[in-house]
Amino acid sequence: MVPGISPDSSRKAAELSGKYQGIFAAAGTHPNEADLYSADMFTDIARTVLCPGVIAVGETGLDFFHKRVSPLLQVELFEKHIHLAEVFGLTLIVHSRDAEENVLTVLGENPGVPVIMHCYTGPDKVAQEAADRGFFIGFAGPLTYRRNDRLRKLAGLLPKEQVLVETDAPYLTPEPVRGERNEPCYVIHTAGVLANLWNMDIPSASKILLDNSLRAFQLAPVPRTDLVYMLYNRIYMNITGRCTNHCRFCIRDRTDGIGGYYLKHHEEPSSRRLKDIVDTLQPEWAEEIVFCGYGEPTMRPELLLALAKTASEKGFSVRLNTNGLCLERLSSEEILRLLEPFDDVSVSLNASDMDEYNAICIPENDSAWDNLQKFIQISRKICRTRLTAVRYPGADMKSVAAYALKINLPLRIRG
Ligand code: SF4
Repeated sequence: MVPGISPDSSRKAAELSGKYQGIFAAAGTHPNEADLYSADMFTDIARTVLCPGVIAVGETGLDFFHKRVSPLLQVELFEKHIHLAEVFGLTLIVHSRDAEENVLTVLGENPGVPVIMHCYTGPDKVAQEAADRGFFIGFAGPLTYRRNDRLRKLAGLLPKEQVLVETDAPYLTPEPVRGERNEPCYVIHTAGVLANLWNMDIPSASKILLDNSLRAFQLAPVPRTDLVYMLYNRIYMNITGRCTNHCRFCIRDRTDGIGGYYLKHHEEPSSRRLKDIVDTLQPEWAEEIVFCGYGEPTMRPELLLALAKTASEKGFSVRLNTNGLCLERLSSEEILRLLEPFDDVSVSLNASDMDEYNAICIPENDSAWDNLQKFIQISRKICRTRLTAVRYPGADMKSVAAYALKINLPLRIRG
């Protein structure tokens, strides 16, 4: 986990995550950098939060030790970071120095996402209170320092399943290599102290610490689903996992996501969560919002309409990616109403006749091909409409292209 401490370092952390498998990133502004705060800077952080591999918001928090930035400004920025984490469902990595009680007050009883009290050295009472609220407590090099019996005693008393080990490299090098530049591999020394406190060997302690980290960052046992993500400077909203087709090429049968995002749904996301996300998104973050799913977005028509309306009213250009089969569930009038807020509609055609369509897309409904044709005609009345097709054995792309030409709509063939 590589946390950022500013817009620039957050972007670099996200780039590292994109480059190397197994590296994850957090985006945030350290409280000592809070004087950099501006709307543009926050836009930068918010955009980075939506990058692949960014699974946490942080560092953020309060630092009343260095007195570099006014407490009021720190609290304001901390609250903005908490809101981002809550809305996007990301873990919070919290820095606190001489401000631990204030941090708990700002966080509240239950921020709704995992919280990590990063590199904890604060009062015992606050650590206990944080643990009671279900927060994780992270320990770094200071746990190994000879005079830190108080911190070791505290670590030994906290529930094992809420303790994390961290490096804080290049700072806070643990004993016995203290004085050198800190490296992630030295974390073994801090883990060794915890193993000792827990009266177990290092491999057993490491297993507990790894399990704790996976839970803290929502990677296991059930991975967190990206409901919103950024690709090609567009924001994508992943609103459902359901679909009435069973296309032979569907990536849902092969993988859990695309572009480094985890898109598989373990349950349908709540309308409330999706509405909060769209309420938070700003047109400065991206030029367009695309409503899609790891499934078919028109499976949730009322929700889709409400979200698209909000996005359009906020000034986004709004696009729908659909299989065009919603006539199975909606009347033509309802579809016209549904499409009202959309500027663009991209319809998956994938075939040039019914037999080809049925063989490749395996629809649940016999009238799928007819419904698809009718939908295209409705859509083109009020939205810029284009077709897409996936190159797949059995789909004759020349005929698909000729079909698109015949009905005079642009076609994009995907590999
Ligand atoms: S329409 Fe899209 S989501 Fe549905 S099965 Fe086909 S490729 Fe998958």
